[in-house]
Amino acid sequence: MTVIKDAANRYFLSFVVEIDPVDQPASNPSIGIDLGIKAFATLSTGEKIDGPEYSKLDRKIRRKQRKLARQVKGSQRREKTRLQIAKLHSRISDIRRDFLHKVSTRVVIENQVITLEDLNVSGMVKNRKLARAISLQGWREFRVLVEAKCNKLNREFIVIDRWEPTSRTCSTCGFKWGKIDLSVRSVVCLNCGTEHDRDENAARNIEKVGIGHCHDYKWTQRGSKTTSVASPSEASRIIAL
Ligand SMILES: [Zn+2]
Repeated sequence: MTVIKDAANRYFLSFVVEIDPVDQPASNPSIGIDLGIKAFATLSTGEKIDGPEYSKLDRKIRRKQRKLARQVKGSQRREKTRLQIAKLHSRISDIRRDFLHKVSTRVVIENQVITLEDLNVSGMVKNRKLARAISLQGWREFRVLVEAKCNKLNREFIVIDRWEPTSRTCSTCGFKWGKIDLSVRSVVCLNCGTEHDRDENAARNIEKVGIGHCHDYKWTQRGSKTTSVASPSEASRIIAL
């Protein structure tokens, strides 16, 4: 057992346990999840899950940090402020962790196959805004949690390539409408006329590619070395077979 003391003077005990996977069938065969800034997660069912609000705590932290900067180094008052800041930070991470556990548990219990999109980490870290940093951190943690819980409940966990055109393709008819700006939140397909919410359409394509990838994966196990992933339009064809 390891005892850990964190910056907010909290103590933790850390230890490892081994658990066997649980056999508990899911009610829904498969789901695709699009992770975003506006809504934390959009599911292929159309449901949007908002992340917790940290702006109040964030403001408090910034206020305390300005205070800290004015205080004499090594003074007791400064140490007190430092501790207050550390506690606010751990409050944020506690809220986030709680949220991520709840969402990941629910998604894994309900679905047999869970597909996420690989994160564009390098593109994201360029933006130094705290909100972005927090959501980026949240996505990583979410993915780790979902994967672990999939192992625990015998679910299939799939991550699709981030270059898949999930936001450029109609999830209804497979028509590729090309790149659309991030500010565009809804799209009407030129080919079939369906009106899509941007994130929901992406989530549905993620699910399609995920399922296609499953079939593809079984196929590649029979000796073929291809690592290519089915495109959303191909996915619908694969499912139909
Ligand atoms: Zn269409």
